[in-house]
Amino acid sequence: MSDLKKITTTCTRDCPNTCGLIATVEGGRIASLKGDPDHPYTRGTACVKAARYIDRVYSRERVTRPMIRENGAWRHTSWDEAFALIAARMKSIRDESGPEAILYYQGYGERTALKLLNRYFFNLFGGVTTLRGSLCGGTGQASQNLDFGERISHDPLDHYNSNSMVLWARNPVSTNISLVPIIREIKKRGGRIVLIDPVKTRTVALADLHITPRPGRDVYLAMAAAKLILALGAQDDEFLENRAEGFEQYRDILSRYSVMELCDLADVPMDQVVSLADIFMGQGPTSILLGWGLHRHKSAHLSIRAIDALAAIAGTIGMPGGGVSQGFEEYGPYDQSWWGDDLNPPRRTLLVSTVGEEILNADEPPIRMIYVTASNPVCMAPNSAKVAQAFRKAEFVVYSGHFMDDTADRADVFLPATTFLEEDDVMATYGHNWVGPVNRAIPPVGECRSEFEMFQDLAGHFDFADRFRLDAAAWIEKICAPIWRQGCSPEQLRRGAFRLDAPMVPYKDKTFPTPSGKFRFMTEFDPAEVNGADEAYPYKLITSAPHAYICSERTMAEHDPLPVIRLHPDEAAQRGLEDGSLVLLRSQYGAVRAKLRTENGMRRDVVAAERGGWIKAGHGLNLLTRDMSSTVGMGTPYYETTVSVERCADPWSAQPRILVVQNHEHAAPAALGRELERMGAALDIRMPFEGDALPETPENHAGLVVLGGPQHAFDDADNPYFAPLMRLMRKFDAQRKPVAGVCLGCQLLARAWGGRHRNCGTFEFGFTELSLTTEGENDPILGGPLPRLMEFHEDSFIPPEGATLLATGESCENQCFRIGNASYGFQFRFEVDSKILDNLLTLFRGGEMEKYNNYLDKYDGCIFESMEAELPLLLEESQDFCRRVAENWLKLCADDIETQ
Ligand code: SF4
Repeated sequence: MSDLKKITTTCTRDCPNTCGLIATVEGGRIASLKGDPDHPYTRGTACVKAARYIDRVYSRERVTRPMIRENGAWRHTSWDEAFALIAARMKSIRDESGPEAILYYQGYGERTALKLLNRYFFNLFGGVTTLRGSLCGGTGQASQNLDFGERISHDPLDHYNSNSMVLWARNPVSTNISLVPIIREIKKRGGRIVLIDPVKTRTVALADLHITPRPGRDVYLAMAAAKLILALGAQDDEFLENRAEGFEQYRDILSRYSVMELCDLADVPMDQVVSLADIFMGQGPTSILLGWGLHRHKSAHLSIRAIDALAAIAGTIGMPGGGVSQGFEEYGPYDQSWWGDDLNPPRRTLLVSTVGEEILNADEPPIRMIYVTASNPVCMAPNSAKVAQAFRKAEFVVYSGHFMDDTADRADVFLPATTFLEEDDVMATYGHNWVGPVNRAIPPVGECRSEFEMFQDLAGHFDFADRFRLDAAAWIEKICAPIWRQGCSPEQLRRGAFRLDAPMVPYKDKTFPTPSGKFRFMTEFDPAEVNGADEAYPYKLITSAPHAYICSERTMAEHDPLPVIRLHPDEAAQRGLEDGSLVLLRSQYGAVRAKLRTENGMRRDVVAAERGGWIKAGHGLNLLTRDMSSTVGMGTPYYETTVSVERCADPWSAQPRILVVQNHEHAAPAALGRELERMGAALDIRMPFEGDALPETPENHAGLVVLGGPQHAFDDADNPYFAPLMRLMRKFDAQRKPVAGVCLGCQLLARAWGGRHRNCGTFEFGFTELSLTTEGENDPILGGPLPRLMEFHEDSFIPPEGATLLATGESCENQCFRIGNASYGFQFRFEVDSKILDNLLTLFRGGEMEKYNNYLDKYDGCIFESMEAELPLLLEESQDFCRRVAENWLKLCADDIETQ
């Protein structure tokens, strides 16, 4: 009988689409995650990130057991011990310094109904320091509140009534896919789609017109279009005279500029502004959709208010298919009294846009403890170095999350959280008007717990436990009371999405929740508020949402070696750079290495990149971003960051080209390759087992890496390239060019120097304790103690004469040696990352590696499971070691180049 189940649920990630999903579960595991065709808005759509999410749930890097850091090292612990420790620290800090010495950093990663209770927990505790402001949409909401009294967006399905659409800094192809069929429908009817965005995104493919204003100068573009409409007398006089206030003052502001001047200020050609104005005048209802990039300027309110004014002048406010839409209230449908903010006198809040500085400066009391949920602030908040410094200053950090990311690296306790596929909850959204069920599809992976369960158990250590402890269904019943009052029942919501009581078309009667009941025009405008140029850092850094990831939701293995930045080819040429150059991106806050991509069509004053890569993976673009707050709405103006781009000043004058010989499709250079690339090397990967030719001499390469594989190192008959490869290893060394052999590569290196094959007499599998010899302790490449490292082999070697043994193991003695001028053999697999390990473990455990199947009897399920549970830490240590060795080994290339 099939155990296939289909579970209706809702994506809870930080994405406005909030798709209804169907999780197919087979044999207790998620087999697929697809869009729910019955969801009234998302209608079966789900993005590339949904399918990838399954890998995230089962990633070998995912932390699935609680951990405590002691003396700088992580160890696994029980939930009881973790909670006892946290509760004891909370109580002692409250007694000694007051509750505000604790910062609760609640992120935006997931915003389900039960997450309201997290703050309730801290309020029952006495109220702690929390955050104010926003890393994302606060500016837009506050700015639109100034114009409309209360920001209310058109229901996305109302956009089907639009005859044309203006996507103002919005990229639906990557971040709001349910708009795509609506856009296609508008185009099919002959409507026009205008994209306004200083950078080229995937949405350009859907646009009839792409306008690229100078970043932050959208205010002038909106003014220019409004001025043209007024000049032609095409304005909505009835609205302006009877439904709006402040129009005359706004007209005065417009009268300070000619249309041409406004075009120049926005750096947009006049004909494009004419086209934009024409659409409002001639294409029937036009909807304007504001994107989140628009908010990321200090004076974003000026642009947003000028866009609202454009719609008001054009007469599209309150019109089906018109309006200016931005977002929805994701906590709106809940009974927000369960935040519990009225339980205590108002407590201190810290501004999230400058959170590093705020934590460091917090006084009376200083922040002693930070508790983080659903966020990775060390990576995602601006001026990351300062945030990291602030986290280091706190004496105790608790982190609830999934992976060993940048924030986890600063934590003392890691609480492994479930994903939404392992939880029951309810999800409202900032992207539309439906609230959806979150139904558990699988049991928690490992020992993971939901935040709800964590706080329930932690509450058991406090005297308010009875007020807090209730099961999830009972809490949902209370928190969602406003939804039940709208005619939905808990049972109905478990079955599928429910549309909240919200207008399809806001302000339809042309009255507004302002004191006068009228729309309010911006009546003051100071051009000095709009940013200027910066000579030292000539480019605006635009870090937009990635297509394949949500913010920093990724694993170490998923990172490219370096962030990729895009720049206009002429700007690159002026700096002596070309496509593919290794560059240093520098701002007043720091510097980050990156790979340059030149792109025609880019604005010449912009550097574009995708945000979210981890600092520890060599990305961390927030090391560059400015920590400041927007003038309105306490938002975070990331795009005020200006940068310079220069060639990386490495020890070598040209990128060292490393020849990498890969001996099997599943034995990629992985972490070793990424580290070498991060440090500036260019990899030339050859797969001779697939027929790739090997060079005969080392002339065109600065070093050689030979990787592992299932072959026997002595099997020349089946691997005719072994003999020339071994000769090549010797030639590299003869020219003082470094060689690294890993696993099979190590055995080949030994053979190349006259060493012999040896069978270990056993099969070494798993992360293994190894010891350094005296020579190994002083070896400059190994650079210190060895962590446990991955072994997967039965063959070994007898070191050649003249070799220096650097590391030994118990079951297989010879683990690492050096020989000649600069050749190193590593029997252990220090290049592994989670993808390689997943492959090794899955194939071996599943009996799909014929060669090793006879060893399977040695291992029972428990051995695999306990190893798998330890993997995140083992990998972490292994990758740290890999980084160190790669850096030291690559320096040999520089030494070689210098001596030439
Ligand atoms: S990430 Fe967004 S678009 Fe993708 S499945 Fe989740 S809600 Fe839908």
